[in-house]
Amino acid sequence: MASGSGKDVSGRDASGREGSGKGLVLVVEDEQAIAELVRLYLTRDGYGVHVEHDGDAGLAAARRLRPVACVLDIRLPGTDGTEICRQLRESGDWTPIIFLTARDDEVDRVLGLELGADDYVTKPFSPRELVARVKSVLRRAAGPPDGGRVLRVGEVTLHPQRRSVHIGQTAVSLTPTEFDLLAHLMQKPGRVFTREELLASVWGYAAHGGTRTVDVHVAQIRGKFGDAADVIRTVRGVGYTAND
Ligand code: CA
Repeated sequence: MASGSGKDVSGRDASGREGSGKGLVLVVEDEQAIAELVRLYLTRDGYGVHVEHDGDAGLAAARRLRPVACVLDIRLPGTDGTEICRQLRESGDWTPIIFLTARDDEVDRVLGLELGADDYVTKPFSPRELVARVKSVLRRAAGPPDGGRVLRVGEVTLHPQRRSVHIGQTAVSLTPTEFDLLAHLMQKPGRVFTREELLASVWGYAAHGGTRTVDVHVAQIRGKFGDAADVIRTVRGVGYTAND
């Protein structure tokens, strides 16, 4: 079921994670028509695309091909999309992942599972929108543009270039999106950001039908921070700030 096109190889070789090209995107989707549409649009935008139609082959391809991003349908034959994500994260693979969800209530489930998903689109989706999301997660994974400065708020230390976060001496694993959200807040301690501002700055697109994505990611960061969770303070009716 592998696509076998030359783009797979060129995409991968031309741009591993540190590379400057657009790189290879893995698409795991059992509905062939959707998979081909996604392939068409991503290819047109300059990405290499590798398609798999079932979850087991998808997980194997993610490990073998080291794509720059994965687009995962949730319901798949074999290993489902959430399980692929979970297994990648468990093995320390933080490749950006965008889920394709069939229903809105799946979104809550996926985000609530704290799988470390970076984004999602709900079917039916516009292929252009999906391409925009892929660009956005890759931009975030590349780090903030003014990335050199080490940021400290309370016990939390964030190294933009190493993309590491420590509480005291203890390293904390964040997804690329969680990292960028935290970095954005920590760059201006005490400044209150609205959810819309955070969505625009961190996710790179305007709110469409809600800002709960921001709330969910804040909750995930707090969950990982334990006693240091109050580094992100909720300002009721406004948004969030990093406590200074
Ligand atoms: Ca499916």
